[in-house]
Amino acid sequence: KQLVAESYIMNVYDQIKQRNANQPEFLQAVKELFKTIQPVFVQHPEYIKYGILERITEPDRIISFRVSWVDDRGKVQVNRGYRVQFNNTIGPYKGGIRFHPTVNESIIKFLGFEQIFKNALTGLPIGGGKGGSDFDPKGKSDQEIMRFCQAFMTELSKYIGPDIDVPAGDIGVGAREVGYMFGQYKRLNSYQAGVLTGKGVGYGGSLGRTEATGYGTVYFVEEMLKEKGLSFEGSTVVVSGSGNVAIYAMEKAESLGAKVVACSDSNGYIYDPDGIKLETVKRIKEGERGRIKDYTNEHPHAEYFEGCNGIWSIPCDIALPCATQNEIDVESANILIQNGVKAVGEGANMPCSLEATDLFLENDVLFGPAKAVNAGGVAVSALEMSQNSMRLSWTFEEVDEKLREIMKNIYRKSVTCAEKYGYPGNLVAGANISGFLTVAEAMMAQGVY
Ligand code: GLU
Repeated sequence: KQLVAESYIMNVYDQIKQRNANQPEFLQAVKELFKTIQPVFVQHPEYIKYGILERITEPDRIISFRVSWVDDRGKVQVNRGYRVQFNNTIGPYKGGIRFHPTVNESIIKFLGFEQIFKNALTGLPIGGGKGGSDFDPKGKSDQEIMRFCQAFMTELSKYIGPDIDVPAGDIGVGAREVGYMFGQYKRLNSYQAGVLTGKGVGYGGSLGRTEATGYGTVYFVEEMLKEKGLSFEGSTVVVSGSGNVAIYAMEKAESLGAKVVACSDSNGYIYDPDGIKLETVKRIKEGERGRIKDYTNEHPHAEYFEGCNGIWSIPCDIALPCATQNEIDVESANILIQNGVKAVGEGANMPCSLEATDLFLENDVLFGPAKAVNAGGVAVSALEMSQNSMRLSWTFEEVDEKLREIMKNIYRKSVTCAEKYGYPGNLVAGANISGFLTVAEAMMAQGVY
């Protein structure tokens, strides 16, 4: 049975590799799942016959489109937009939109694939999808952002809806961009609150959605630490990034008594041995949309370093990579381990390379994988959808309480599944198997399509 399962997984991986030869990020995400999934097919040989792996790795559809917009000089610009509708077995496609020059089909497919299992882990009825564009928001005026969002939604609006596909934010897409896209959707169709999440709280957004991914990350890591008799109290934390995930991870970590000594943006990182002053970071990043370097203008005792990798050479107890994919390679992982890191929680999507992840696991570092750790964002998006359907809104405290419960549940599910399927203590395997089983069971029930 084990051999059958193993050769099935290897065969499917070979097929996927051939079909997606030029998509390294997508193949990495598939490989990460496949590395841990074998025991599922030993227990459920019927999944082999019903082609669950072949089906779950091929998106339902990939939509790619031209986005033409007019810049401030009156010149027409063209970008490419994507929406990957990956799997809607347990609910409407759900996942963010990323605006970043590195966006391509491989990136959107890896994110959409991760989203299937992450969303299943939340226990809420949402399927997996993702979208984006190679548009670079850096240096664009507010009006350029608005015109781009409108142009992007003019095409995307044909494919989404509250019960079909519900986008939200990701890198480069926050409340401002969601607002512009929502306005355009409303003009083209009608007022449908549940068509996007991450909206402003004045028009259907949920309290606590802004904080959700960062807070959820810390809630999850808190559970991991608790099991080993550790806590955030008195610990030193390094957080990469300074966007929505990083800012609220820092805020929650600090409120639990940790000292966050570093954060970064795509140009470099700041090191503040006294603890990062979050108000300054918030003002620079959320208000002025500036660079993290400016932090040192106000806090001259802090140091700024060019480049991103160096942040992982700062000694810390807890590392929270909250910037982007593959930001921790084996080299950085090795340095973190040598410096005595106790826990790593992936706030970003796939921030650790496969080799880095293995290294953490081999060295008994508590490791929380992205699809479990950062699921708080999409979980509160699903809560936003619920509130929109009911036409009411919950208080911040209600949402935060639900988020905390969801994160605890994801942790418990991951621990239990890891144990049950022969990977005690391995949350990577536990989260993969738990999310996978939820979707696979529902796919079996719904017949082949
Ligand atoms: N982009 C976020 C993620 O990676 C949130 C998606 C959503 O809220 O739909 O999960």
